[in-house]
Amino acid sequence: MTTEHHPIPPSPVERRVAALEELLTEKGYVPEGFIEEFTRTYESDVGPMNGAKVVARAWVDPDYKQRLLEDGTNAIGELGFGGPEGHHIVVVENTPDVHNVVVCTLCSCYPWPVLGLPPRWYKDPPYRARMVREPRVLLQEMGCDLTDDVDIRVWDSSAEARYLVLPERPQGSEGLDEDQLAALVTRDSMIGVGRL
Ligand code: FE
Repeated sequence: MTTEHHPIPPSPVERRVAALEELLTEKGYVPEGFIEEFTRTYESDVGPMNGAKVVARAWVDPDYKQRLLEDGTNAIGELGFGGPEGHHIVVVENTPDVHNVVVCTLCSCYPWPVLGLPPRWYKDPPYRARMVREPRVLLQEMGCDLTDDVDIRVWDSSAEARYLVLPERPQGSEGLDEDQLAALVTRDSMIGVGRL
């Protein structure tokens, strides 16, 4: 049993991370506080709300949508989003016949500027293996039911290309403005494990 007097000791990987952080700071490779600030930024300031703005803009502005599908990184940059892990973003569009879903089979590549840090399950081996082997089954387990006539395209992220799914605009959203539309867009819909 764990009490305040017997806190859980840091795991080996936590100890290694702390030692590396201390060493990097001591050697002057990273300024003090940089790593905390970096982590905080990607936990609270940069996240799926950025991707949601990109999606909503694409829904209301056909010219923007075309630029987004042709050159994701640049079009996303038009809205002010970019930076680490965001230099080669490819946007793939869902249609009534095609559902796109993103995985990184090798590790955990993910478009940080528009989605923030990846969720835990995205980095886990079962997701990475099964999304390739049996996407329809896994999507259904994750609550994303697709009828058999919808083709599933699985995109394997890497350093060369990080994918963002452009979900379909929900039916009945015709009267909403761009901000209201952005509020409808979920992280999972932009990874492709959910629908709107
Ligand atoms: Fe990766």
